[in-house]
Amino acid sequence: MNTRTVRRFTFATVASLASVMCTTGAMAAPSQKAVEVLGNRGPVANVGLPTHARAGSAVSGVLNVDVLSARSIDLTLADGQTITATLQRVASDEKKGTQSWVGTFEDSPGSLIVLSKAKGVVTGFGNYKGQTLELVPAAGGKHVLFAVDQQRLPKGDRVEKSSVGGSAALSTTTTTYGTGGSTAAAAGSVVHDVLVVYTAAAANKWGAATLESMIQNAIQAANQAYINSYASVTVNMVGLQQVSMTESGSGMYPTMSTLEKNTEVQDLRKKLAADMVVLVSQDSDYCGYAKLTKYFTNGVTTWWDANAVVYSSCLSNQTVAHELGHLQGLDHNRENTASSGWYPYSYGYRVCAADGFRDIMSYACPTATVPIINVFSNPSVTYNGYQTGISYEASPSTAAETARTLNDTATTVAGYMASSTSTATAPASPSGLAFSSVAYNSVGLSWADNATNESGFKIERSPDGVTFAEVGSAGTDARSFTDVNVRTLTRYFYRVRAFNSSGASGYSNVVNTTTPDVPPPPPAAPSGVAASNKGDGTALVAWVPGSSTASSFDVRREKWDSRKGVWSGATTAATVPSGVTSIIDSTGAGSYRYYVRASNTGGASAYAGPASVTVTSSTSSKKVPPGKR
Ligand SMILES: [Zn+2]
Repeated sequence: MNTRTVRRFTFATVASLASVMCTTGAMAAPSQKAVEVLGNRGPVANVGLPTHARAGSAVSGVLNVDVLSARSIDLTLADGQTITATLQRVASDEKKGTQSWVGTFEDSPGSLIVLSKAKGVVTGFGNYKGQTLELVPAAGGKHVLFAVDQQRLPKGDRVEKSSVGGSAALSTTTTTYGTGGSTAAAAGSVVHDVLVVYTAAAANKWGAATLESMIQNAIQAANQAYINSYASVTVNMVGLQQVSMTESGSGMYPTMSTLEKNTEVQDLRKKLAADMVVLVSQDSDYCGYAKLTKYFTNGVTTWWDANAVVYSSCLSNQTVAHELGHLQGLDHNRENTASSGWYPYSYGYRVCAADGFRDIMSYACPTATVPIINVFSNPSVTYNGYQTGISYEASPSTAAETARTLNDTATTVAGYMASSTSTATAPASPSGLAFSSVAYNSVGLSWADNATNESGFKIERSPDGVTFAEVGSAGTDARSFTDVNVRTLTRYFYRVRAFNSSGASGYSNVVNTTTPDVPPPPPAAPSGVAASNKGDGTALVAWVPGSSTASSFDVRREKWDSRKGVWSGATTAATVPSGVTSIIDSTGAGSYRYYVRASNTGGASAYAGPASVTVTSSTSSKKVPPGKR
């Protein structure tokens, strides 16, 4: 999304980076006259100004339409002082109808001024010598320029460990960190896709178009800070819109909890493949809130944790760049943290002297008033003769290199949500695919479900093991499927995979089988079942086959229980192949009756019989009880 027309650093940099400075694009034409941002200026009453405006600081006027195409601009403040800013970079997106102008004030190293147009509305903000300036539309088609009273904004932000993965934090005893102090601008930058959403209350406060313009400013200010700091990261705002979720009413912490679970926002995030989400809200207990990514489960899907909340009135306070910084693994200056960033050097940096400064991740100094400068800590970039960070190699215990950290974590952050079809959150593959049944008209499959987040399973079939097509699906936690759309005497290959809204798992193993032919009709029942006593403790059972299609015969036997007076103990005495028409059943003495049926692959006939017999041993003789024949 960036069209970098001009790139110019105003920081003094150490000698090793001087050559980089001199080769980074065309310089602004110095002869061109600066464009005054507001014409027909006049002071304005404090009435109607945002509550965080400093009393007496406002000036109103008509916005000069040429401002977004100027090489340099003048801002005349309420006290009559005119300050001049030079263009560093233009960012425009014709499709979205947005355009941003990013520059720096000539007499203030590390200062920032960014103006953006969104939905036809221009807003701006700047940081100049310890002042934060804002430019917003006002009544009567005018704009108003004012300075922010920092006392009227929340103090600082809230940052804490993520709710997951605390024990999986990176070891701090590792001796190799990142890229060994190299924070020179690398060729190409890693894109972090960010979805920014805002509440109805925030839209009502500023007007939706004005708010969107202010958000554009904040995003482009972050991008300029990466450039200023030699961090090869670019934030790409993949979505910007109002959403229906509202502020909790009790602060940013519960709003964050809502945000993490909000389906509208998180579905949008998946659709847009946004690595990080920023909610702009009217929660005003902090300027911003984010979790520190060190405590994400490293190497595991963490996209759902990468959310930030920002108070709309703090958009000019670099709070978006700051909170995104936490999600990128950056911590505050060492004096203002109880935790630690991703690496032992992932700290912001400040110098609390009269000519000092603080960077984007640092809190204000306790006594000295120092300007915020638009950088992430980097010992290779200097301000007023101070390094803006401390090298880890030079001093591990005081190291402050958030720019280096940004380079170290860039790819990980870009992978929070790799793409809309990412397998990052796709379910695990099923395994152990096997046949539970194979018939002429159906094939049963079973598998092991190895996923905990699947929406269901898709079953694919192939005639050749090469070209598969989906033949059915099964729901969450399913472990079986029956394919009833099969032909006889046909070979089929099957495979299964799990799926959810993020995509599909890998495939299971492939299995194949050939369906049998249509079975014949069951055979006719036998006839002429007869049983006779052989007088040696055995019975001869014989029958006449009912048809030639039988493949086997089952002989069932029951015994007379004289104590209870019932036939009992039904059991299959024998199963014999076709062609056999009698058996000798070794039962011992007693009264029995026999049934016989015929079977083939099509089924079984009814039982024929019974035939009763009283079996005697060679020394005994008993009669069948009367009436039981
Ligand atoms: Zn913070």
